[in-house]
Amino acid sequence: MTLPEASTRVTYPAGDLVATATVLHVEPAGDGLVAVVADTTSFHPVDASWPDQPADAGVLRAAGRGLAIRDAVVAAHDGTTLHLGSDIPVRKGTEGWVFVVAHLVDADGAPAEGDAVEIEADASLRRDLSAGHTACHLASLALNRALADRWSKAAREDALGSPDFDGTAIQSSRIHERGSVDRYRLNKSLRRAGFDTASLVPDSLDELAGAVGATLASWRDADGAVRIEREGDRLTDRRSWVCELPEGTARIACGGTHEASVAALGEVGVAFSLDDDAGTPVLVMTTTAHPES
Ligand SMILES: [Zn+2]
Repeated sequence: MTLPEASTRVTYPAGDLVATATVLHVEPAGDGLVAVVADTTSFHPVDASWPDQPADAGVLRAAGRGLAIRDAVVAAHDGTTLHLGSDIPVRKGTEGWVFVVAHLVDADGAPAEGDAVEIEADASLRRDLSAGHTACHLASLALNRALADRWSKAAREDALGSPDFDGTAIQSSRIHERGSVDRYRLNKSLRRAGFDTASLVPDSLDELAGAVGATLASWRDADGAVRIEREGDRLTDRRSWVCELPEGTARIACGGTHEASVAALGEVGVAFSLDDDAGTPVLVMTTTAHPES
């Protein structure tokens, strides 16, 4: 049983849905499933270290048989054992570790090492997740802009030069079909960094949503192009989401998939609520895109 020597080549950043590949490694993954690692994939995997965009859905075809891909996760090995998802004990990029995409399929009928396979991601789910992810980035930039005057100290800047509330306070970001949910911790360290956390009271949230929505509407009207830039075609090569906006070119490190333009998202709306995480207030931003289907 050999483990792949190189990080998986990934074609989903270019928008690909189908890849022809050679199986490099197959091993049991529990629950009647096996993990299949190929040299190439078009299938977006979930990354346990920052699980914002879920895995694609789709099929792996081998010898004319189609097997549903039950899940796809980032996996890693150091030459001895393949660790799946949250079992990876090191950070991405750690020297001596190889990061790959593992497709989980039923053990019954699974391909063998060396087999030629075709991997196909479902187009409709991909499109909706891409719309959700692009909307999520735009909403985070629009939120930073709407909150810019609530900082009393110099803060790190976002991709458009606004104080980076999103990057400073983010607790979790979850992309779903045609939208996203971002949770921001309004904790002491955010207050010490100079952000007026007390201003985010329930009565102020509709006004905030209006300000963010107005920025999003102006960006939609400007219809900037969206693209993904990457330093190489491997899973671990650095990739960036790049969007042309009236204020400038926004660039955000991102491993996900995206729509090709702002206007493709249709109207993007946001709603806010306040939650509580063990005594720490949490601002929740729910973003919804309306792409034409
Ligand atoms: Zn992203």
